[in-house]
Amino acid sequence: MVGSRQATIASPATNVTAGYSWALPTSARLSPSGRCGVFGRRQTTATPTVARGPLADTERPEWARALPYGRPMAKHIREFDAWLDEHDWPRVACPTCGDGGLGVENLSGCRDAPSAKLVAKYDVTGPEELTGTFSGHLRCDNPSCDELVTVAGDWQLVVNEGDPKWGSFGDIYRIRYVNPPLQMMALPSATPASVRNAIEVASSVLWNSPASSAGRLRQGVEELLTVRGIKRFVVNKHGKQQRLALDSRIAIFGKTHSEVAETLLAVKWIGNNGAHDNTLTIDQVLVGAEILEAAIRALYDKTEAQLKSKVKAINKAKGLPKSKS
Ligand SMILES: [Zn+2]
Repeated sequence: MVGSRQATIASPATNVTAGYSWALPTSARLSPSGRCGVFGRRQTTATPTVARGPLADTERPEWARALPYGRPMAKHIREFDAWLDEHDWPRVACPTCGDGGLGVENLSGCRDAPSAKLVAKYDVTGPEELTGTFSGHLRCDNPSCDELVTVAGDWQLVVNEGDPKWGSFGDIYRIRYVNPPLQMMALPSATPASVRNAIEVASSVLWNSPASSAGRLRQGVEELLTVRGIKRFVVNKHGKQQRLALDSRIAIFGKTHSEVAETLLAVKWIGNNGAHDNTLTIDQVLVGAEILEAAIRALYDKTEAQLKSKVKAINKAKGLPKSKS
């Protein structure tokens, strides 16, 4: 469902050919050669959603005004796995700073060939009939970062079933490409580079090919085991070197790290699903990412161990230990 729509545009044309009556803005009546533009809503400007430096309350986006002491926590990238409405855009974490959230900078739809033919034939056509692609930019609302992220994907013009203040129709967007890629997981700084690289590739293909993304997560498991010293090859009875199956490698690792090995096995199964069928969804891949993140944290995130050590030191000293300086 479309959450909301922005008020539109003067000089509408009325269409009654589809058995109902509604108005299209003049921008929706582009000639077949003008297939790209902003159709169902007023175009967003290139003005940054966040000004540089400290913001006056009135300069803040609406969601930030309710939180005077800072930005709300960014949402998980899973929020992008849906048809999105510009007026109800999920504020997911910036891939560059990880601190700010991404807001809409500009989005522009392009009608596909069947939609362009419909427009050429009937002059105007309407919501639920026009489809195509879009491209645009999102901007990080952390002023010290200010990253611009390029997005692209599928576009539709639909009837607004949400807040009537945005008009009777509008655009919705399905993300298929994001650059820089959104981070699938927050990795500890000690994460090995080869594991990190596999996860970055998984992140970059997630929106367009969940199956490929799951395969790269599986590759991340292979890399992790290699870094942990688990052998990749064995010599068979014919004296030839043979690649060791991932199951066997995980089983070897399980002798010393049984719990982590179990989580790695789950990621392997999801990766196998990706290799054998094309029905794997983005959400299922993100479940695999969460499981792999837990395994990596168990092996490389020392935050909990450091905290325990601080607690021990405080209790031993019956107060905060004296600083050496
Ligand atoms: Zn940022």
